[in-house]
Amino acid sequence: MRLRINIAVSLVALTTIVWCVRFAVTQEHRRTPEFLQSKYQELNRTFFENSLPTARVEWADLTDADAMGRTIRESDDMFVILVDRNSNFDDEDLDDTVRHETCHIATWWKEQDMHGPVFQACMARIKQADHNDN
Ligand SMILES: [Zn+2]
Repeated sequence: MRLRINIAVSLVALTTIVWCVRFAVTQEHRRTPEFLQSKYQELNRTFFENSLPTARVEWADLTDADAMGRTIRESDDMFVILVDRNSNFDDEDLDDTVRHETCHIATWWKEQDMHGPVFQACMARIKQADHNDN
């Protein structure tokens, strides 16, 4: 009985260690500049046939702006997407944020209300494709 308890405890410890290592690897991976950049490029390729302008995608602290993401038009054909590093903790939130900001770039000149129908259609198209994958 004693032995069985020890095994159970060891398994819990082992599971915790594995989980921590996986978590650390994921977090480390997220920190590289290529990680965010590749998400934008993938969306651009998959949904816009690479027709979107160039954008730099960077981690930022947007706590003061109370935003998860923000898109800035830096010049005629250059955008910057800032992704808040505090509120985009899990991958689902992060994907949503990058998609949201990517649709801002795709619809930048197309309507006055930045979250208007053209923007909503862009988001719906990306989400729809996501469902078909599963
Ligand atoms: Zn927005």
